[in-house]
Amino acid sequence: MTKIWIDAGHGGKDSGAVGNGLVEKDWVLTVAKQIQNELMKAGFEVGMTRTNDTFYELSDRAKKANSFKADLFISIHFNAGGGKGYEDYIYTSTPAKTVEIQKIIHKNVISKITKHGMNDRGIKKANFAVLRETAMDAILLEAGFCDSTDAAILEKQSYKNDYCSGIVAGVQEIFGAMVTKYRAGKYLTSDDAISGNNIKGYLEAGTKVFVYKETDKTLNLTTKKGVPGSWVLKTEVNIGKR
Ligand SMILES: [Zn+2]
Repeated sequence: MTKIWIDAGHGGKDSGAVGNGLVEKDWVLTVAKQIQNELMKAGFEVGMTRTNDTFYELSDRAKKANSFKADLFISIHFNAGGGKGYEDYIYTSTPAKTVEIQKIIHKNVISKITKHGMNDRGIKKANFAVLRETAMDAILLEAGFCDSTDAAILEKQSYKNDYCSGIVAGVQEIFGAMVTKYRAGKYLTSDDAISGNNIKGYLEAGTKVFVYKETDKTLNLTTKKGVPGSWVLKTEVNIGKR
């Protein structure tokens, strides 16, 4: 099973950024738990740096994720300093795969949050301890600025929901999504999937799939990333794409 580590920043004596009534250590804990919940429902194994208001040193966060043998480390933060917008970071020197992972997470998050008025500050690199000391691909997300007009966006539950689902969709694009609904019909063409003609078999629950193509009503799902698979009706599969 693919293992994801969720690192809620700060905690305990370290509040993180504070502004407009928002406290980073509390906001990131709520969001981290929501991501944990959604990833587990999507069939991932999830490890957490903290599930309550506890302080951990940066090195201990990396050590915990390393001994869990996570496939991906996601650190959750928000920003301060008067800017506006969302940005994410990977370590200054990473394999090309990590850059690709950052692009996928970034694209999925941005596609869900710009409708709230959150700016895109782009993909960035930094020498952060949790990115440097983790043995797996690692990314740190800054959800917006608590000391700017972003605060009103960060406060909204609908923003938190879209933010979390963007992260989860990104993880699913990287590692595949687990089909959780029983027996979707598989077809050779999108039209066949819509009409129900010429069924070629069934997609069983528990199968790990990647989306190869997408139309309004159908998905081409494949078990081998980048290779065409079978067409299914969106309403018949439960992989978060409906
Ligand atoms: Zn922070």
